[in-house]
Amino acid sequence: METVVESLCCREVSAFWSLVEELTPRPADVTCLTQHPGFEACCLNPFVLKIAYTHFRQDRGPLQASTHEQYRYTAYRQAIRWAYGVLGRSIRKPLPSCVVSTIRQQFQNGDQTYQGFQWPCLDENE
Ligand SMILES: [Zn+2]
Repeated sequence: METVVESLCCREVSAFWSLVEELTPRPADVTCLTQHPGFEACCLNPFVLKIAYTHFRQDRGPLQASTHEQYRYTAYRQAIRWAYGVLGRSIRKPLPSCVVSTIRQQFQNGDQTYQGFQWPCLDENE
């Protein structure tokens, strides 16, 4: 992780950990927010992220970034929205490292030799 702030575990940030604690019934094997059933649904599901990106794009314009970066950025925003609700535009909150690394793993930058699955572009006309 690049920063000390980003090295936080989800257990150390009450806004994130309370999402796990409020899970009812809470399975004993859910020991990290990334194991919460809502995490895949809200932060990793490409269909959900496409809708979330459409909201972002309508409000702020297209994000000048690669497709994978758009997915990652949108997924980070989803995680923040899930944990904190509505924040002012100038308010930044750190993401737990487990959340960042799981999102990065899901939406890796493709390298030149990798011919596997390509996530569809989030911008409509590209
Ligand atoms: Zn965690």
